[in-house]
Amino acid sequence: MKIGAALGFNLIDYPGRIAAVAFAPGCNYSCPHCHAKPILGTAAPIDQEDFINYLDTVKDWVNGVVICGGEPTLQPELVPFIQRLRAQKLAVKLDTNGSNPAVLAQLLAENLVDYVAMDIKGPRHLWSNLTGNPGVEAAMLESMKLVVRFPIYEFRTTVAPVLRGGADISFLTVPEMAAAAQLIVEITGSPDHKYYVQKFMPRKDGLLDARLEAFPETPVNLLRDIHNEVLKYIPNTQVRG
Ligand code: SF4
Repeated sequence: MKIGAALGFNLIDYPGRIAAVAFAPGCNYSCPHCHAKPILGTAAPIDQEDFINYLDTVKDWVNGVVICGGEPTLQPELVPFIQRLRAQKLAVKLDTNGSNPAVLAQLLAENLVDYVAMDIKGPRHLWSNLTGNPGVEAAMLESMKLVVRFPIYEFRTTVAPVLRGGADISFLTVPEMAAAAQLIVEITGSPDHKYYVQKFMPRKDGLLDARLEAFPETPVNLLRDIHNEVLKYIPNTQVRG
């Protein structure tokens, strides 16, 4: 698999595990708030064999791998790469934008992934604004149904500013986040999910759409109000800073 960047290990990206992180280059979305700009091209400077060999050297204490991006499910070599990680007895967490349900279905059928984190970009009527890709709806709805069948999963939404047309740019609102939560319940048929409402973090010269760099991080009051509202639909909702 192509690897655009990697982290040796951390305790944050894979809850409950010490995990190395592989960032897959490239993405089929262009979310204005994306801060992965450096890996959205095709450059893949990390050799897969070097990464796997590294994992072998730290096998006594690194017990998981997070595969994120970019969008990992676009990589033709994703499945064989995960099969090799499995052969090394490593737990695997996959972060996805939900655009590729066929790959999720294969990973599920072959029991290759322990934990999936899927972005729900916001309410359905704003998905094309939030992803820069108008054709994502059917795939994301299908992925939502698949994600809940993995052993561990989470949905997550970054409360980011939305390009609403022209100069109109403003944060996702409480009713919009309520609609996103209601959609999760409607599509999955259940309110019992781990759902993270995440803070938008501005990054000078680091966001895909530079207009968002003028925004502050998501206001605490807005996060609190969203949390209180979303809890009505998904009781296991948490704010992630
Ligand atoms: S934030 Fe959007 S553009 Fe960036 S990697 Fe994720 S899905 Fe792709």
